[in-house]
Amino acid sequence: MADELRRDDGLLTTKSTVAACLNCGAPLTGAFCASCGQRDIPPYPSVRELVVDAAAEFSGWDGRLANTLRDLIRRPGLLTHEFLEGRRVRSISPIRLYLVTSLVYFLLAASAPNVRLESGQPVFEGLRVGTTTTKDKPVSRAERVGNAARQSLENQQVLTAAERDSALKDIARAPAVMRPFLRRAVEDPGGFKRRLLETMPRMLFVLLPIFAGIVALFYRGRKYPEHLYFAIHLHAFIFLALATAALVKFTQIPLLVAAAGLIVVIWIPVYATRAFRRVYGGSLSRTLMKELAIGAIYCVAAAIGFTVMIYWVSIAA
Ligand SMILES: [Zn+2]
Repeated sequence: MADELRRDDGLLTTKSTVAACLNCGAPLTGAFCASCGQRDIPPYPSVRELVVDAAAEFSGWDGRLANTLRDLIRRPGLLTHEFLEGRRVRSISPIRLYLVTSLVYFLLAASAPNVRLESGQPVFEGLRVGTTTTKDKPVSRAERVGNAARQSLENQQVLTAAERDSALKDIARAPAVMRPFLRRAVEDPGGFKRRLLETMPRMLFVLLPIFAGIVALFYRGRKYPEHLYFAIHLHAFIFLALATAALVKFTQIPLLVAAAGLIVVIWIPVYATRAFRRVYGGSLSRTLMKELAIGAIYCVAAAIGFTVMIYWVSIAA
């Protein structure tokens, strides 16, 4: 019975004479239904058909992902350009690309070991927080508090009781706005850091439309979604670059980690410049000027965003 059914359906789908979509019944003219989009696949598949189908689905997506990543890395701005021109089948959708790359980055950032050359700054996996302080002689109270918070965040371990008490005493006299953040950093560095890393992806996602809005100020006469897709692709690349740097941390070789960091710091602006020019056109000098302005405004927006985020994370239970 089942065999017969399969043979019948095999006939129905392989012979193109009277093929109809099994989902909606519309006549089929190709591999996909023109009416509902379902692919022309035999019902009740044999094991072989199942395997072939799974392989096709898998390699199809894999192939597109590989294409997308290759284009994203090697040809700045191309994905945005192609997407806007309507050539969209070759690559995975911008939103999916963004989610994939940000997921990869945050997973790596959260699990990468803490490797660095001596630097005086607290570093949240690539994101600098706070200002440079001299390590030798923390004289002022502000510096003592900053150092205590940094130390406990960096090492993710609670300070000794005495260190903690003195830090908390200092914190009590710090500016009111800073207190929740400093207290959390000193009392529960692990949890605080985890919460920050959890909140950061959402924060960056919120900043995307803001970045697009800033770009729109400098490139008039285009529709807003164009800037949004540009922003999404650019950020996807930045996540990939940062993920690469995070990946290098697993080698635990400080010099290699520093070199990777340096390459990323140079690579991102060079990439961004090329992406801007491919999508928006314009001379190199004009692009650089616009980029600087966009970067500066975005930094302010991001700083406000991250301050709000850090504060919010500090006061959240
Ligand atoms: Zn159909």
